[in-house]
Amino acid sequence: MKETITKPEIGLDPADWNDIKTLGHQIIDDMVDYLKNIGETKVWTPIPQQVKDEFKKPVPHQPSDIFEIYEEFKQNILPYPAGNIHPKYFSWVQGTGTPMGAFADLLAGVMNNNATIGEQSALYVDKQVVNWCKELMNYPADGNGILVSGGSIANITGLIVARNTIIQNAKNAGVYAANGKLTAYCSAETHNCLGKAAEVIGIGNEQLKKIPVNERYEIDVEALKSKIQEDKANGYIPFCIIGNAGTVNTGAIDPLDELLQIARDEKIWFHIDGAFGALAKLVPEYQKRLKAIEEADSVAFDLHKWMYMQYEVGCVLFKNAAAHRAAFATAVNYLTAHERGLAAGPETISNYGMELSRGFKSLKVWMSLKEHGLDKYSAMIAQNIDQAFYLGEQIEKQGSLELMTPVTMNIVCYRYNPGGLDDIQLNALNKELLMRIHELGVAAPSSTLLNGKYAIRVANTNHRTRRNHLDEMIAGTIDIGDALMKEHEASQFKFDFLTVVNAKI
Ligand SMILES: *Cc1c(COP(=O)(O)O)cnc(C)c1O
Repeated sequence: MKETITKPEIGLDPADWNDIKTLGHQIIDDMVDYLKNIGETKVWTPIPQQVKDEFKKPVPHQPSDIFEIYEEFKQNILPYPAGNIHPKYFSWVQGTGTPMGAFADLLAGVMNNNATIGEQSALYVDKQVVNWCKELMNYPADGNGILVSGGSIANITGLIVARNTIIQNAKNAGVYAANGKLTAYCSAETHNCLGKAAEVIGIGNEQLKKIPVNERYEIDVEALKSKIQEDKANGYIPFCIIGNAGTVNTGAIDPLDELLQIARDEKIWFHIDGAFGALAKLVPEYQKRLKAIEEADSVAFDLHKWMYMQYEVGCVLFKNAAAHRAAFATAVNYLTAHERGLAAGPETISNYGMELSRGFKSLKVWMSLKEHGLDKYSAMIAQNIDQAFYLGEQIEKQGSLELMTPVTMNIVCYRYNPGGLDDIQLNALNKELLMRIHELGVAAPSSTLLNGKYAIRVANTNHRTRRNHLDEMIAGTIDIGDALMKEHEASQFKFDFLTVVNAKI
């Protein structure tokens, strides 16, 4: 008899299902309390070295008790998050998530669907959510789209389709099939994922022309027009204009109507990166400025940022459903659809994007939109914008604070500027100030450089924030700034201690 037949068989389910139930109840109890009290915790806590050392240990070969694993999680992982679920978190552009969204991820984890192929409910939910995303953007119903991990992949997916539309046989011949260098255009304030997209689609970063911005950080339309003509005269092939609906630095919205018109005149693709800003379309005051989204050939946006849903989920929509499909559909025998049975059902989603295996990310979108209803999201986004304007007003009232750009949406850039210091000193001062704001747990804004000036940057996509949290951040900024000035006067804090330069690889 072969040894394999006599060996006892094994599996990965718990030996005792009661244990997993007990632990599950404990986790839910603990996590609901954790969320309920999140505002009482410090927004960010440095990670002690001995905790970091835990993460250098090699892979375990022997089993551990599930209760002990959970204890370790509570001790070494849970206390040291980035803080983006906290009401005082404003770094980068990060979403907050919701309790029900977390449950949806748990449920999706239990079902563990591979939401790609087969006659299964997940594919119908996914399809419905893509249709809801079209409704959110008032996008043509006969368009198509796909849920992806986030804005970066959504933008890359958009540019792949743009490239494959201009080069009919791009799938086989690549960019070499074009009669010149394919060239795309965007503002200098565009997110770096579009640079990655240019790399991925094979045109290279050099052929993604970064057009200067005006004083409102919006693309200079005249400069764009003349660049396109200049490039055409040089034998380049303009194929895509990328508009920003909310830039990452300042929340600027490019003049999308004008960009759309140029794209139509030039007969080229118009893509919009609306990672967070596209969602302002749900707010009446912003509908006009974002109207062009409805006409764009493709639009990318995130649901994990300004729709407050759990990571990861983003979306890209395409006006031309056939073009979307043509860029990704492939015929392979192991994925063929059958008339009946499990292999029947909707077309494999792998025909619409780069990924084959994909999780059931649509479930949290579906549950969240049902829980709150779209009107609540509109009101929530409007509130975040109001809070940003409020913050801008409060900053302007403070003699020692300087608003660095006018507030236009949900991003506020400011610095501590007590007077008498030059920009280099102010840069160092504000960089130190930001690190102390984090270390003291005052709040968690991030930073950027605006025309070489270091700015404390507040991006508000936080449904837990209230005005008092912003007040506390302002008070904390001034207190720390004043303390730093005292240290400076006592020669304890030297401005040459920190250098602030443009980011380098
Ligand atoms: C965040 C962001 C992206 C990238 O989206 P991810 O979901 O982080 O991949 C792209 N563009 C803008 C304007 C963003 O703010």
